[in-house]
Amino acid sequence: MDGYRKCYAGSIEDNEAVTQASYEILSGIKAFVLDMDGTVFLSDRLLPGAVELVEYLKGSQIPLLFLTNNSSEHRGNYTEKLNQLGLAVDESMIFTSGEATAHFLQEHFPHMQRIDLFGTPALEEEFKIHGFNLTTEYPQALVLGFDTTLTYEKLWRLCDGVRAGLPYFATHPDINCPLEQGVMPDIGAIIAFVAASTGRNPDYIIGKPNSPVVSALMKRLGLPADQICMVGDRLYTDIALGQAGLRTVLVLSGETKPSDLDESPFQADLVVENLEQLYTIIKYS
Ligand SMILES: [Mg+2]
Repeated sequence: MDGYRKCYAGSIEDNEAVTQASYEILSGIKAFVLDMDGTVFLSDRLLPGAVELVEYLKGSQIPLLFLTNNSSEHRGNYTEKLNQLGLAVDESMIFTSGEATAHFLQEHFPHMQRIDLFGTPALEEEFKIHGFNLTTEYPQALVLGFDTTLTYEKLWRLCDGVRAGLPYFATHPDINCPLEQGVMPDIGAIIAFVAASTGRNPDYIIGKPNSPVVSALMKRLGLPADQICMVGDRLYTDIALGQAGLRTVLVLSGETKPSDLDESPFQADLVVENLEQLYTIIKYS
């Protein structure tokens, strides 16, 4: 099993375990992408090492993005939350699946300018910033986000467009969005509704764990995939991005327990306890 895993940095108390192998895995990395929940914070508690890592990367001029699949909220909401928790970050450091979708369309479908968008006002703003023409009249493509302002009328219009064969993009695949208590139905449930009516699924789903988000990160950061390091707590979303070429670091501060690694098809390049241990490795590598 240990041979199957690429590198486990070991217990944080054990300095010997911060090995040369850990340094080598991170060598050549030019930018870091951090998952938020379970990696940077848990509910309203900042996790160990977050402040030190963010300050170190900023001070070293190493680009850093905070990645979220949630395309319903404005980037400012995440900035505010991170600021309140004590992290000095600004909106330009937040990368949502909505922004990723805009980058992906511009990179791979530059002729698609007229978009019928199904999303919140925050997602509409994101697309307008990127220069898209949002319209229900003769759109060239359909873009579905996590639309908490969804109405039956919008669903019907989306189904009509999908049935008519328009190119169909979804910002991310999550079926439910976890809350403090329970869940709220996410975009995956809307995708399922549309599929039940039309028999079609989206042509592209951008967010984690899908490869289009890696393409969007490469465009946003101007770097090849193997110079970007994804840091996250979930094997099947964050670490799965390793299959699209990113270097990956698993933190054990969130959802994943060490025993989960035995069964997972997704293995991180490096496994650390938390951001504190990652900070120590980056600082001394
Ligand atoms: Mg997470």
